[in-house]
Amino acid sequence: MPLLDREVLEKYEEAGRIASKVREEMARVVKEGLLIIEVCEAAETAIRRLGGKPAFPCNVSVNEIAAHYTSPPRDEKRIPRNSVVKIDIGVHIDGYIADTAATVCFNREYRDMTQASKAALEAAIRTIRPGISTSELGSKIQRVIENMGFKPISNLTGHQIGRYAVHTGKSLPNVSHVSFRKIREGEVYAIEPFVTTPDSEGRVIEGSEAHIFRFLKRRGLKAGVSKNLLKYIEKNYRTLPFAKRWLTNCKFMSESSFRELLESRCIMAYPVFIEASGGWVAQFEHTVYIDKSGAVVLTE
Ligand code: MN
Ligand code: MN
Repeated sequence: MPLLDREVLEKYEEAGRIASKVREEMARVVKEGLLIIEVCEAAETAIRRLGGKPAFPCNVSVNEIAAHYTSPPRDEKRIPRNSVVKIDIGVHIDGYIADTAATVCFNREYRDMTQASKAALEAAIRTIRPGISTSELGSKIQRVIENMGFKPISNLTGHQIGRYAVHTGKSLPNVSHVSFRKIREGEVYAIEPFVTTPDSEGRVIEGSEAHIFRFLKRRGLKAGVSKNLLKYIEKNYRTLPFAKRWLTNCKFMSESSFRELLESRCIMAYPVFIEASGGWVAQFEHTVYIDKSGAVVLTE
C-alpha cells in the first residue's frame, strides 16, 4: 500500500480543517428548542462557504438515537430540553473525506457518559499506530469506557476512509474482538467510540425512519421518468450519502420517482440507529492519518 502523496494529504487536511471548524460552530449554535433542520442546513451551508462539500448530510441524533438522523424536508422536530445531542459532520475535498462528531450534553445526568466517550476517543488516538491490531485498539476503547462506569456500543464502529467512500476497508470496533487485521502507515481512519449507560444493552437496532440515502447502481430501472433523477444524484453526490432535502430544487424530483429508485435498488436508505433498550448515547469522532509514529488528527 503506497503512502499518500502530498497533494492528497493536503486535501485531507483541508477537509479536516473545515469539518472541525463547522463541528465547533454547530456545537455552539445548537440549543434546546432549536429546529433540527436549522442546525443541519447551517452546517451544510458553512461547509460550502468554507470551500468544501458535505461528504454526507449533517447528522443531528438525539438521546437514544445513536446515529443517522438528518432532517427530512420541512422537518418540524426540535432539540428537546435536557437532551444529549450528537452532531456528526462530513466534509470532502475532491472526494477526500474528513468525518468528525461531538456530543452536546444538555442533561447533567449524562455529563459523565459524554466525558467517557471523549476520553475513549483521546485514548484511542494515543494508542493507534502502524502494526497494532484493530482488536488491541477495540480492547483499549472498551477498557476506558468501562473503567469510567459506562458501556460501549458493540455494533457501531470506527472505519477506514477512502476516496468518495466514507466507510471502506477495515472497521474499528469499540470493543475487544477476534481479529488479526493491523493498522498500516498511510491509512486514514475515523475513530468513534459510542457510549451508553451500563444498564443499557449496548447495541443499536435499525429504526423505522430513514432520511439518508446513497447511489448504488444505474441498472434495473423500469420507468424512464426516474432516470433523470438518478443521473442528477449520481452526478452530484456520486457514491456519497445525501439527504432528500438536497433534492428539493431538483426539477426531476418527485415522490414517485424517488420511491422507484428505492424499489429498484438504484439507491439505498440508511435507517436511523437506535439503542436497543432505549439507552441514551454519546459519541465523539475524529479522522486521523496514520504516519510512521502514530495518529495525525485531521479534525482537531
Ligand atoms: Mn461521523
Ligand atoms: Mn464515521
